[in-house]
Amino acid sequence: MKPAPFVWHGPEDVGAAVALLGEYGPDAKVLAGGQSLVPLLAMRLTRPAHLVDINRVAALDTVTVDGSGVRIGALARHRRVERDDEAFRVQPLLRQALQYVAHPTIRNRGTCVGSLAHADPAGELTAVLALCDGSVTLQSAAGTRTVAAADFFVGPLTSALAPDELAVAAHVPARPARTGTAFVEIARRHGDYALCGVAATAELDAAGELHRLRCGYLSVADVPLVLDLTRAWRAGPDAAADLAHDAVDPVTDLHATADYRRHLARVLTRRAAGQAIAAAREWEAP
Ligand SMILES: Cc1cc2nc3c(=O)[nH]c(=O)nc-3n(C[C@H](O)[C@H](O)[C@H](O)COP(=O)(O)OP(=O)(O)OC[C@H]3O[C@@H](n4cnc5c(N)ncnc54)[C@H](O)[C@@H]3O)c2cc1C
Repeated sequence: MKPAPFVWHGPEDVGAAVALLGEYGPDAKVLAGGQSLVPLLAMRLTRPAHLVDINRVAALDTVTVDGSGVRIGALARHRRVERDDEAFRVQPLLRQALQYVAHPTIRNRGTCVGSLAHADPAGELTAVLALCDGSVTLQSAAGTRTVAAADFFVGPLTSALAPDELAVAAHVPARPARTGTAFVEIARRHGDYALCGVAATAELDAAGELHRLRCGYLSVADVPLVLDLTRAWRAGPDAAADLAHDAVDPVTDLHATADYRRHLARVLTRRAAGQAIAAAREWEAP
């Protein structure tokens, strides 16, 4: 099939883009990398009358790294962030997770902020943003607001973005001192969406004991799920894995049963947490 007719707009700055979204609101869609939107258009699962293509807004093509974390502009492609050594040093989970997003050709074009705006609970970056307590900055003609990940993901493919808002950037906080990270997932084929995936951060105290262990889950709930497993892990890895098994709320679909996804949550929790704790023991001050 071919997309339903639409009017294409190619603004060259953020002001012009948000003015268009203000004018056309629910009748418009933002086009970033197009890796999710174009298939939806082609299948006529969405039929916006206006497309606001932000690919000419050079000011959004940024990745800024400082002590607070990584600020990813709305036009930064997955591949650029994945390859950014400074971003990896400050927050390794970005590269660890991005390696699992689709295939390199898709990552060359798709944007990190587009993934977040798409709000697919099977998206790797949704789990990373939620686990790291990141945020998304939204701009409209009325002004700018920053929404914490916990409030940004509202449901499957639904975010806090209003129809007149452009997501201009995402902020992924730096990993704290003595913290290790890991990302693992199981998909039917490499590059497919995960049947279940787990991101983990493990923080040790100055004596080298586990201070905090958290895991973020994809593909097992309507929104990315974050669990604090510190106490459970202290009781033993099996207790933490069982807690995850009982906490996730997956569905049965074409690809896997809910029971199998629960089983994966148990197995991958052990794996991700173990790797993150091992990485924390290797941590060196940057
Ligand atoms: C074969 C295939 C496999 C894939 N596998 C995975 C996978 O394993 N994991 C994964 O996470 N993703 C996967 N994807 C999706 C891919 O990562 C997309 O790139 C990503 O979901 C969206 O980024 P985009 O820049 O392409 O956004 P687009 O497709 O341009 O937009 C997606 C949605 O977000 C909105 N949007 C985009 N940017 C903004 C913005 N700045 N402000 C407001 N709204 C915005 C659009 O209006 C649209 O509704 C796959 C895609 C394909 C085709």
